[in-house]
Amino acid sequence: MLCCFGHLLCTVHTCKTVVSTFTEAKLISTKLIYSNLIDRQQLNHYMDSTRASQQEGPRFDSSTSRWGWDLSVWSLYVLPVSAWVLSLYSPPGGPGPAQLSPSLAAMSLQSSTPEALRVVNLLQERNLLPPTPIPAPMPCLPQDLQKVNCNPEVFRCTLTSIPQTQSLLNKAKMPLGLLLHPFKDLSQLPVVTSSTIVRCRSCRTYINPFVSFLDQRRWKCNLCYRVNDVPEEFMYNPVSRAYGEPHKRPEVQNATIEFIAPSEYMLRPPQPAVYLFVLDVSHNAVETGYLNVFCQSLLDNINALPGDSRTKVGFITFDSTIHFYNLQEGLSQPQMLIVSDIEGETCLIFLSISLVQDLLKNLPNLFQKTMETQSALGSALQAAFKLLSPTGGRMSVFQTQLPNLGVGALQSREDPNQRASAKDIQHLSPATDFYKKLALDCSGQQVAVDLFLLSAQYCDLASLGCISRYSAGSVYYYPSYHHQHNPAQVERFQKDLKRYLTRKIGFEAVMRIRCTKGLSIHTFHGNFFVRSTDLLSLPNVNPDAGFAVQMSIEENLDDMQVVSFQAALLYTSSKGERRIRVHTLCLPVVNSLSDIFAGADVQAITGLLACMAVDRSVTASLSDARDAMTNAAIDSLASYRQSVLTIQQPGLLAPACLRLFPLYILALLKQKAFRTGTSTRLDDRVFAMCQLKYQPLAYAMLMIHPALYRVDDLTDEGALNINERTIPQPRVLQLSVEKLNREGAFLMDTGMIMYLWVGRNCNPNFLTQVLGVPSYTAYLLPDLDTAESQRTRAFIGWLRDQRPFSPTLHIIKDESQLKSSFMQNMIEDRTEAALSYYEFLLHLQQQISK
Ligand SMILES: [Zn+2]
Repeated sequence: MLCCFGHLLCTVHTCKTVVSTFTEAKLISTKLIYSNLIDRQQLNHYMDSTRASQQEGPRFDSSTSRWGWDLSVWSLYVLPVSAWVLSLYSPPGGPGPAQLSPSLAAMSLQSSTPEALRVVNLLQERNLLPPTPIPAPMPCLPQDLQKVNCNPEVFRCTLTSIPQTQSLLNKAKMPLGLLLHPFKDLSQLPVVTSSTIVRCRSCRTYINPFVSFLDQRRWKCNLCYRVNDVPEEFMYNPVSRAYGEPHKRPEVQNATIEFIAPSEYMLRPPQPAVYLFVLDVSHNAVETGYLNVFCQSLLDNINALPGDSRTKVGFITFDSTIHFYNLQEGLSQPQMLIVSDIEGETCLIFLSISLVQDLLKNLPNLFQKTMETQSALGSALQAAFKLLSPTGGRMSVFQTQLPNLGVGALQSREDPNQRASAKDIQHLSPATDFYKKLALDCSGQQVAVDLFLLSAQYCDLASLGCISRYSAGSVYYYPSYHHQHNPAQVERFQKDLKRYLTRKIGFEAVMRIRCTKGLSIHTFHGNFFVRSTDLLSLPNVNPDAGFAVQMSIEENLDDMQVVSFQAALLYTSSKGERRIRVHTLCLPVVNSLSDIFAGADVQAITGLLACMAVDRSVTASLSDARDAMTNAAIDSLASYRQSVLTIQQPGLLAPACLRLFPLYILALLKQKAFRTGTSTRLDDRVFAMCQLKYQPLAYAMLMIHPALYRVDDLTDEGALNINERTIPQPRVLQLSVEKLNREGAFLMDTGMIMYLWVGRNCNPNFLTQVLGVPSYTAYLLPDLDTAESQRTRAFIGWLRDQRPFSPTLHIIKDESQLKSSFMQNMIEDRTEAALSYYEFLLHLQQQISK
């Protein structure tokens, strides 16, 4: 049955037989090697030939700054053709997605899209950007599979056609990996309540749209090919209320689905939602004025914090000492307890939600006159960890300076004079392992730490950030935060807090990514701790977190026409339900380089390379990472020229699907994370690196290559009509000063920040009808009753609605200070330190023709 939100709430009532003998929870302690052994044994049933072969796995060859390939020997088995037994059984009721064979028979492997492979001479074609934002490429699959495939906003692959062998992948010189946004807010999410969750007995894959039914009683796993029984309970379809339709169950009709888990998925009773706020109240912190904003935001949103009657909220404040607050029911007002012996036994006071409002109203005044300048952050974190350990939960830390007292104290490592001149940037890795170790302790107790850094000074984010990175937390950063001097940061902090406090949250989560036998996952990107080879420990999971993984092909995928990937996220909801969200992606396997190139997803490739380059900057050097990114463009275009192009022609040639690759690589080289020659504060750089690793692809792409629009002449021509609102659709412009002019107004969308740059001679009509005044220093568009104002606000509102956070809008005059931030994004132009786009293309061409 469908509830009013379109959620599918089905309860299967009859059979209570538990088919699953292993649970996700038990698997936590199961070594991967063991499950591999099971896979191999099962596969022996299907194998009539074996052979040993050499396979290659990716590694980075630092001597040449290329992502190279490592030789290692694997004995492997090759599946015979007969093992790929597809649907022999045609269930009554017409074709369903689970019937693979007729579809695959019709699937042409030569069906590469001609447009994707159209040859583009980059030196000649200047207007490469499509007029509107670029959608993800669709894998070349039969329509019935495509129809049920996972949404690319949730799950996508760098190559939408998977190479049959690692050597073919090596030849293509493109990275193979997955990009995930697993806990994304979804408007439509089927939710299933069932006492039996049907999974493969061998590899534990959840039944999904890409399995095949051999007959009504048996289904074949699409990851390990084990034939499994269909449990009796699964024979009943709660949607149609019919018996004998296992292929029509919601689990087999939806690539994204959520299960409410039975008790066997619980290691312990589901934890309550527990929120602990750890607040810097030193002199420096009070000066910034952040405490007022924080307390007011929490007061405004306290009833919207996700949770139920078991929810607990607590506070710790700290400077050189640590202060706890007794909020137990029955007290007439909160009691503050000061623990000056920071190494001593901490006072564990547990916390009920009453009295919180009283405390929040008084907290900003309590420390108004403090002269305490020291910061014992490390000890405060340890105390907070002790407080949260018995239950797990979320720790939100607000810090405004470099911690300088007790454990975890840090020293400034930044030399501002070196910012622009140094070729290689030092101090990108942590100065101490204190924060990482504490994060791992937190992870073990199901505690995630989110860090809000509000500071005018260097705070060593490279060290502090570890507390969030390994505990699956988030990092927020507000450089030069001040309640009076920086109203834009205050506005952003307020908006971020609202989203942060009210967004969905999952506790004590783990995520496992499985893929079809033969493929292997080897490097993960994002904030988490890798508990076993393929299991990510996520004490908290939030809907704004992205992940990426790299993959290699360990065994030839010779007889496979499709492969599948499945991400399963097991978590406790804020209401104490154990839930499993499962996403399954299906992609075709191809055996020619041209098909691989035709399926390249240039944005996913760029996103994955950015993650790899962040790692490379830390483990080797920034220049090494920069060289590697440039080489990635050179190598893939050289491979295309040598192996795919049949007619050689002059120029720098790329297939249409990769035409933006050099532009994106250049954009990465000029991005705050990787740029050189421009003064970049170390914390700004490290924060950009954190974001590239942590943001879902859609937002990371706006950070890398912002979208530029002219907005002073918006019209209704070609506009969208959504909910009876007309949304103008101006063209996306190249990021070059030549696209600007002083008579216009231009909107630049960088994801977190939007700039509205108003030219000096901008049309007076725009100034009065949209900005409302001749002078415009604000960062809010007035709500005017003019057609121009409505169009502009509709367009900006539409852009904002496509992301869960609210970007700050800066309206900048022709010659304001912020103009330099705007101009720094003009990626195609030459700067003193960096090549223009055209020069970069010439450099690539020179390297390719060597
Ligand atoms: Zn399986």
